[in-house]
Amino acid sequence: MPAAYKNAFQTYFRLKTSPFWIIHLLCFAAFFIEFSWWYVGLAFAGYFVRMFLVTGVHHRYFSHRSYSTSRVFQFILAFAAMTSVQKGVLWWAAHHRHHHTHSDQEGDIHSPQDGFWWSHIGWILSDENNETEEHYIRDLMRYPELVWLNKYFVIPPIVYGVAMFLIAGVPGLVWGLCISTVMLWHGTYTINSLSHLWGWQRYKTTDTSRNNPVLALVTLGEGWHNNHHRFQSAARNGFFWWEIDITYYILKTLAAVGLIWNLRPVPEQLLDPNNESWIKSQQVEQISAGNSTAAKTEKTDVVEEVEA
Ligand SMILES: [Zn+2]
Ligand SMILES: [Zn+2]
Repeated sequence: MPAAYKNAFQTYFRLKTSPFWIIHLLCFAAFFIEFSWWYVGLAFAGYFVRMFLVTGVHHRYFSHRSYSTSRVFQFILAFAAMTSVQKGVLWWAAHHRHHHTHSDQEGDIHSPQDGFWWSHIGWILSDENNETEEHYIRDLMRYPELVWLNKYFVIPPIVYGVAMFLIAGVPGLVWGLCISTVMLWHGTYTINSLSHLWGWQRYKTTDTSRNNPVLALVTLGEGWHNNHHRFQSAARNGFFWWEIDITYYILKTLAAVGLIWNLRPVPEQLLDPNNESWIKSQQVEQISAGNSTAAKTEKTDVVEEVEA
């Protein structure tokens, strides 16, 4: 159990974590504003668009490089994804790669083995995980514009908040920023908590990841989390047509209009839960190829260079 979890008060309630709780409390301001379905629509639109950006950009692009894009659109995607108020793009990718390296083993930063609340919000509120671990993201550190954006991670949320205010005034801040962001936070964090607890395991992975159709709807496709731990580098997490993966449909649309390309498919051999030989041979090949940290991080992955 992480040391900070033993002293819950220090982990969850400090001056530094107060913005997280103040945004929760500000949601109650909705009771003092005249109700309108338009505001509800604004909150859900903010949720939907930013959940796509979390899953399709922070996760599938920056953490797993499951497709390619131009350097300009890469920056636009990073900026947009950071309106999700989940720290910097490099911080996000580094911590996620750390999770895949240690999934549910000693050293995993957000395993529910260390307690539900720790895996849900404790790890992100704790001071233990503030730093961006650069050795996990050498491929992304080559872009000074991303390093800059990661450092000034408060800029995109401020721009988003100003936009909400310009769209709908104070109700825009309450519904479009606070309520929408609180829903987005807890929706996103179910992947680290509930997706390792609720659902079934089609594939025997070395972790507790699950597939769960309800969480897949809430998170626009990330609830197929056992599939994802089976093969991290695919642009899709729903491996079969009946596994609804809204993020993948949006990525396909962006590819159709030429903004992104090279969407990485799931290798046919991996779809069969009984086929373990292929994945093992890939791991051995990569570990013998050299950098053991990179090999462990990417497992069956081959990082492609982003096209400048
Ligand atoms: Zn996981
Ligand atoms: Zn992942």
